[in-house]
Amino acid sequence: MNKRSLEKYRNLLEEKRRDLLEAYTKKKSLGSEVGGKERAADMVDMATDASTQEFLYSLSNSDRDLLKAVEGALALMNSNEFGECVECEEKISKKRLDAVPWARYCVSCQELVETGRLRT
Ligand SMILES: [Zn+2]
Repeated sequence: MNKRSLEKYRNLLEEKRRDLLEAYTKKKSLGSEVGGKERAADMVDMATDASTQEFLYSLSNSDRDLLKAVEGALALMNSNEFGECVECEEKISKKRLDAVPWARYCVSCQELVETGRLRT
């Protein structure tokens, strides 16, 4: 994948991550706990910290899965594996990445995952 497309997807992913974190911060600040943007920003850098776990649990299941997927895609980007199916290493189509930049599987492997024939 060329650098320009890579940057495009990186921006999309980072934007998505920000959205998810902000949604969380808003939800949190409605409660009585200490919240705010600063705290959310701190959390971005904590990958294995216990409070990250706590944070993840406070998200709804779908938000949590999404955030993990987004983080995973950014990690793949850092190891130059972004845009490849993690199962068969085929290139994931641009069309698919445009719709779902955090996709981990190509269309055929995704189908196997969804039908339970491939364990993730
Ligand atoms: Zn595949």
